[in-house]
Amino acid sequence: MSIKVENLTYIYDEGMPFAHKALDNVSFEIENGDFVGLIGHTGSGKSTLIQHLNGLIKPHSGKIFINDFDITQKDQNLTEIRKRVGIVFQYAEYQLFEETVERDIAFGPSNLGLSENEINARVKKAMSDVGLDYDIYAEKSPFDLSGGQKRRVAIAGVIAMHPEVLILDEPTAGLDPGGRDEIFELIKSLHDNNDMTVILSSHSMDDMAKLVNTLMVMNKGRLEFMGSPRD
Ligand code: ATP
Ligand code: MG
Repeated sequence: MSIKVENLTYIYDEGMPFAHKALDNVSFEIENGDFVGLIGHTGSGKSTLIQHLNGLIKPHSGKIFINDFDITQKDQNLTEIRKRVGIVFQYAEYQLFEETVERDIAFGPSNLGLSENEINARVKKAMSDVGLDYDIYAEKSPFDLSGGQKRRVAIAGVIAMHPEVLILDEPTAGLDPGGRDEIFELIKSLHDNNDMTVILSSHSMDDMAKLVNTLMVMNKGRLEFMGSPRD
């Protein structure tokens, strides 16, 4: 899926004395299949931008085209878009709520009108893709897992939906360097083995520059750079 954003501006608490322009006239295009790294300091607008891309936040002004379909138009039914644009949120581990890992991962796919067999197959494939052994983890409570394992469960839940765009908001936050490398490897293999556009946000460019094809740099709500990591 291609993504085209035009002059996106978003203001938190609009009209209040403490109103804050979190996105300031942001425009860019992402081609189908691209692997994009989104970096910027804390508060630069990464999460705000990401939440616009499946319609969770409506912009103050500007347009967002997903495959030439403008998702900012009024009264759009975004159910279809949300199936196709999957987001693993910044605090993904707090979104796990079922009693077992298996049920948590099955939650999204079970709303797609699939057969029981197909759902089970998707859960098993997703767990294997994120490196969680089915026999060990399926029946465990997500609350009993480590931070990195919870992150993997959240990623599995999103990829089991078979999204065309996978967006991960700081998927390595709070992990040690070894855990970070593992998650980056995992995301790279997800991108390389599926026909998916992937967007990945992080504070730091260090671990990402060698991974992605395109780098986007946010600063104070503005898109300051977009291009090859080499540049
Ligand atoms: P981080 O790296 O810390 O996750 P970020 O780049 O994701 O930061 P955002 O969360 O998008 O940044 O925040 C952008 C700006 O918008 C910040 O100045 C923040 O204080 C402000 N902001 C974010 N969420 C809200 C909110 N719910 N209400 C008001 N202001 C907000
Ligand atoms: Mg954020």
